[in-house]
Parts: sequence; structure tokens; C-alpha cells
Amino acid sequence: RLPVVVIAGRPNVGKSTIFNRLVGRRQAIVSDEPGVTRDRKDGVAMLRGRRVRLVDTAGLEEAAPETLFGRMRASSEQGIAQADLVVFCVDARSGITPADAHFANWLRRQNRPVLLVANKAEGRAGAEAAMEAFSLGLGTPLAMSAEHGEGLADLMSEIVSLL
Ligand code: GDP
Ligand code: MG
Repeated sequence: RLPVVVIAGRPNVGKSTIFNRLVGRRQAIVSDEPGVTRDRKDGVAMLRGRRVRLVDTAGLEEAAPETLFGRMRASSEQGIAQADLVVFCVDARSGITPADAHFANWLRRQNRPVLLVANKAEGRAGAEAAMEAFSLGLGTPLAMSAEHGEGLADLMSEIVSLL
């Protein structure tokens, strides 16, 4: 069984872009529209010579179960239950939201290793903004930009070191 790495976080933070970068193919759907990735997408990625199963989840939102976001959250919970590592992705540009904080608290209770990633942190301003994610209490955020290809090598190394 390959180690399972689940990419989780709010809609539109860049989960699918990260997934595509790591898997190396456009297996996930990327959209400007928040929450457009409705299904989990699985792919095998080779990270530093190590094969891992990568799961791109739908967004995690606080909502009633009968809503679209509620169903997305339920599907993400399933993914996290089978995860060897959760890459929790936040958006350095929008900053930390109450939903991020709520999810961080929930995630801590799942007893899964977590790697906190602050995406959309391109450039120096981005790296500074990423540090706001310290407040989530999940350790030092890894600042990166999936779209600009910044911090990808660090992300791969961190993932492998936590498996
Ligand atoms: P998801 O909903 O979390 O899967 O997010 P997506 O991967 O679909 O990305 C949402 C939007 O953010 C898209 O328009 C992406 O092009 C954009 N995006 C992703 N990564 C970055 C990044 O590093 N920097 C910036 N500025 N935009 C990004
Ligand atoms: Mg997506």
C-alpha cells in the first residue's frame, strides 16, 4: 500500500493546483470559481524517489449536510480518515479565515500528521503573509506558490520526511 497524502482546505486556496504540480499531470479540475472541484481525485506522485498516493479533496466548509459544501466536507472527512499525512492548505493572500481556524481545530482531533502549507505566497510579501498561518497552532507554515512553482521542492521534501 502506498502512503496516502490528502490535500485539504477551503475551496479556492489552490489544492488542485498543488495536486497537479505534484502529480505532474492535469488530473484535477482547477477553476477560479470557489468550490468547483466536487470529487476527490486520486493520483500517484513520485516525490524525491518515493511513490505516494495523492488525494485532492473538495473544499471543507462549515455548512448543513444537505448543501453542496456539506457534502464536500463529508467527502473530505473520509479522505482524512485514511490519510497517512494531511497537507492542510491555506491562502496567504486572503489570510486566515474562521473556517480555516475551525478546520485546524477539527484536524488536530483527527490524530493524523499535518503539514501546514500557505499557498499563493509568491514573492517576499507572500512569504511574510504566510506567517499569519502560525496562529493556527499547527507548526511552521510552509510558504509556497503552486501557480508560480515556488517552494515545490521544499513541499516534496517535507511530505516525504513526514511519511
Ligand atoms: P482549490 O479549490 O483549492 O482546488 O483551488 P484551485 O487549485 O482550483 O485554485 C483556485 C484558484 O487559485 C485558481 O485560479 C488558481 O489558478 C489560483 N492559484 C492556485 N495557486 C496559486 C498561487 O500559488 N498563487 C496565486 N496567485 N494563485 C493561485
Ligand atoms: Mg480543487
